[in-house]
Amino acid sequence: MPNPKKKHTRSRRDMRRSQNSKLEIKELRPCPNCGELGQPHRVCGICGYYDGKMEVAVKTAEEGEEQK
Ligand SMILES: [Zn+2]
Repeated sequence: MPNPKKKHTRSRRDMRRSQNSKLEIKELRPCPNCGELGQPHRVCGICGYYDGKMEVAVKTAEEGEEQK
C-alpha cells in the first residue's frame, strides 16, 4: 500500500485545503436577454432565458411560489 513517508505540516495541510475555497466563477458574460452578468452556457439566473428561449421559470419576490 502506498503510504506517505512523512506527516505533512499544518502549513502544507492548510495550503492543500485552501485550494478548495478558490472555486470562483471567473468568466461572466452579460445575458443577451436581460444584460445581467452570468456564466456562459448557463441559463440566466435573473430572467431564466437561454438561447433566446424561456427555459426556467424564475421565482421573483413578487410572485412568490410558482404555480403548477
Ligand atoms: Zn437574463
